Amino acid sequence: MQLYNTLSAEERAIMIDDAGQQRLTLSFYAYAKIEDPKKFRDDLFVAWNALDALGRIYVANEGINAQMSIPEENLEAFRATLEVYDFMKGIRLNEAVEHDDHSFLKLTIKVRHKIVADGLNDETFDVTNIGVHLKAKEFNEILDDPNTIVVDFRNHYESEVGHFKNAITPDVETFRESLPIINEQLQNHKEDKNLVMYCTGGIRCEKASAYFKHQGFKNVYQLEGGIINYAKQLKEEGLESKFIGKNFVFDNRLGERITDDIVSQCHQCGKPCDNHTNCENDGCHLLFIQCDECKAAMENCCSTECLEIIHMPLVDQVRLRTGKQVGNKVFRKGKSENLKFKHSGELPETALATAQKPADIRQKIKVKKVLLGKAEHYYVKAQVGQFTIENHELNSGDKILISGPTTGEQELILNKIIVDGAETQSAKIGDKVTFEVPFRIRLSDKVYKILE
Ligand SMILES: [Zn+2]
Ligand SMILES: [Zn+2]
Repeated sequence: MQLYNTLSAEERAIMIDDAGQQRLTLSFYAYAKIEDPKKFRDDLFVAWNALDALGRIYVANEGINAQMSIPEENLEAFRATLEVYDFMKGIRLNEAVEHDDHSFLKLTIKVRHKIVADGLNDETFDVTNIGVHLKAKEFNEILDDPNTIVVDFRNHYESEVGHFKNAITPDVETFRESLPIINEQLQNHKEDKNLVMYCTGGIRCEKASAYFKHQGFKNVYQLEGGIINYAKQLKEEGLESKFIGKNFVFDNRLGERITDDIVSQCHQCGKPCDNHTNCENDGCHLLFIQCDECKAAMENCCSTECLEIIHMPLVDQVRLRTGKQVGNKVFRKGKSENLKFKHSGELPETALATAQKPADIRQKIKVKKVLLGKAEHYYVKAQVGQFTIENHELNSGDKILISGPTTGEQELILNKIIVDGAETQSAKIGDKVTFEVPFRIRLSDKVYKILE
């Protein structure tokens, strides 16, 4: 039985594009009592792998926390895999505002001590005694109450690109640090103020609200489903957004735009910008904000040191980072002296600029195409390629794309196709089809039909 990934992220990305399917990015969590997290993990892996579900999931004795990418056509089947567990019956799946077929490229399910690193000793208080859940409309209303204190329970790199107006945004790197800081800061308002909290998807507030009630806060409220769900309700109900900027997310997208306001600056030149980058140097991987111009000039690096390092021979780079804990391509959440325009703690309440909407969030021009098959054989002199059709069909007059590591991407229109030695109008699955090409075909080349 396969219980782990066998494909690399690159192979998976190509497969997703070849399949041409639409994928949904979603997240969910549930606190529950799970007796055997290892078995739970393996059962989920088997069920989800079969559905082509990808993502980053943590399971623990206390429950499950999942961020995932699911083929749209498998959504109901996926939901059925959750419904077999009593504690996930009717669970709310937080759908992302902006979908990206490459948001996750692996299925990683890890057994952890906790589903969120909160540093709390749960034995000492009742974790089920949580705050009042508020929907977007109610959340907007309570924010208008002068007796409300609103706290952002995310970290500095998250609140920097977007937050609720007038929120307290603790200058912390982890959730666990923010709990005692806020407790101390609001010591004298345990009874007279509404303590209103929010986070990305709601999971951190589930624990934080129980903690603050235990600390003696009388009026504790939390945003149901977090910013992700708030944004969805804004769209559905046409509500005003009291959140400004971008919602940072932990997948390859690194953020979803909630409003057009840009509230942060490029960390290198100070220009209004809210695009996070993961420093190109494998020995660094610092997460920071970088504008397109600085990205080009600095080649995705956070500092001139990192820029020098990436131009060194690979052996020297590896030698330099030996012994350093930087994780495997996962970004590092620290700060750097080099970044002059990094802000945390007190953040601006107004926009510095307005975002231009890119057509595609990965800013890559997408050609709609469907995979037909792979090259079977090539004839050097005649410049003829032979392909086996494995999917869809090929018709004379079709515009095709031939793609491969050496060939690159070549587009052409087919006027003449031959199957079994005879010219034909259409080739179907299983047919070996030959046609002329103005270049040399390689055995690893793939042929796609371009859909206009
Ligand atoms: Zn810049
Ligand atoms: Zn760096």
